[in-house]
Amino acid sequence: MCRCCSPPGVGTGGIRQPAAAEAEPSDPAQQMSLPPHPGLGAERTWYARNAPEAQLHSVLQGHKATDVCIVGGGLAGLFLAQSLAQRSISSILIEARQIGAGASGRNGGFCSPGWAATHAAIEKKLGVASARELFELSREGFSMVRDTLQAVDAELTWGKLQVSTFDAADALQRSRDHLAHRYGYDIEYLDTESVRSRLDSRRYHQGLRDPGAFHCDPLQLCRALMSSLDPSSTELFEATPALGFSRMPAGWQVRTPQGSIQARRLVLCCGGYGGREVGRLRRMFLPITTYIVVTPPLAALGQVIRTTDAVSDDRRAGNYYRIVAGDRLLWGGDITAFGRHAPERIATRMGRDIAGFFPALAGRDGSVAVEIAWSGLMGYARHMMPQVGPLADDLWACTSFGGHGLNTAPVAARLVAEGISGESDRWKRLAPFGFCWNGGLFGPLAAESVYRLMKLADRWRALGFKSA
Ligand SMILES: Cc1cc2nc3c(=O)[nH]c(=O)nc-3n(C[C@H](O)[C@H](O)[C@H](O)COP(=O)(O)OP(=O)(O)OC[C@H]3O[C@@H](n4cnc5c(N)ncnc54)[C@H](O)[C@@H]3O)c2cc1C
Repeated sequence: MCRCCSPPGVGTGGIRQPAAAEAEPSDPAQQMSLPPHPGLGAERTWYARNAPEAQLHSVLQGHKATDVCIVGGGLAGLFLAQSLAQRSISSILIEARQIGAGASGRNGGFCSPGWAATHAAIEKKLGVASARELFELSREGFSMVRDTLQAVDAELTWGKLQVSTFDAADALQRSRDHLAHRYGYDIEYLDTESVRSRLDSRRYHQGLRDPGAFHCDPLQLCRALMSSLDPSSTELFEATPALGFSRMPAGWQVRTPQGSIQARRLVLCCGGYGGREVGRLRRMFLPITTYIVVTPPLAALGQVIRTTDAVSDDRRAGNYYRIVAGDRLLWGGDITAFGRHAPERIATRMGRDIAGFFPALAGRDGSVAVEIAWSGLMGYARHMMPQVGPLADDLWACTSFGGHGLNTAPVAARLVAEGISGESDRWKRLAPFGFCWNGGLFGPLAAESVYRLMKLADRWRALGFKSA
């Protein structure tokens, strides 16, 4: 029987449909009569499925005035609201859908120091001293997330393992030494035997383990932040998309479907989800789609993946995964600049991908069963570093964290709050990367070509050839 003829829940590939008793409640966006965002599927994530139903904040109606209007309720927007409140600056945060509906509440949950761009790229652009300063900033963001989660007794699982899909003993040891000597950050080198004692896959060779990194439930992080905000200094509105903004004699006016906000300052924290309404900022990032799936409970999982670490491989378009709920595998990967695929298609591809690394988990059809699949958008600048700073007088952007936003969005938000309050100009440390054009119509094409080349290079290296 081919996969598409399998009844739901029987085949090991595709997505197992929830039984009637566990049927998903309808998408909150539908309840709010919001049009679906092209980069945000109606599919529920693993995190949303396990979280208590959130009470929606109200929709903005009528006119409001505030010091700072924040557009976007992801980590950047939420940490910004918190950082402003800590400096006695009031704000209104508007979110088009629900808090954490974007990348921040649907990501892999890996939290470690660093940026989306490599150390080498940052050093090349800024020199070693400034690269060190940026690394310290990324650690500051890491601590902000850790502290937020620990304050609500959220579960953090420590340890992140990066494994190589080809023989890379020398290169990995050099990376470890580089991090230790240049950045004072210690990670462990694991030889092939140690890696394979943790991960039962012949495709893996050596690895680097960061015992100081952790993984977490990202939606829980968003909700913890949301709950920590004091309504007397921060007002939150959900299902309230910004439709556009215009300059006023003293600040900016933001239009929403049923109201408007007059603010002395406006900060755009829209991640990869901002559309035309964010003006010229839309021409400065590329929305890149990526995918995550979660398997049903797998009896053999503990024998095959014998670590609670978050794991990623070193392929340039690599996978990342971790065990969730004790016996399920959360597996992420694949990137495209051209929209999103249907959950069924994601499930099929990822199910085969997992089986390629861990054949022992595959069913009779050679694929690993998938229960939930979803996609998300990351905002990427061409230089792969965040775009943070003023776009015009009293108009700031805090965006483009790529696939390394868990720690970098929080610290960038703090830098913006410091900039707005006049406390510091630390945001200028990111300024050398600056706002840059996304390549217009050619941007997605160029990005897609790069990803495809990266995938080819991955295959080439896995076959034992060294690529340029
Ligand atoms: C599938 C996936 C896995 C990832 N895994 C990891 C990981 O393991 N570790 C890591 O460090 N990073 C990871 N990332 C990246 C990380 O999640 C992001 O970099 C980070 O969450 C970005 O935060 P943000 O606040 O800038 O954007 P978002 O969280 O995307 O928030 C932007 C918000 O703005 C809202 N918005 C947009 N336009 C408007 C408007 N006009 N009006 C009102 N609201 C608007 C959106 O609805 C959205 O909620 C992953 C990303 C994805 C998609």
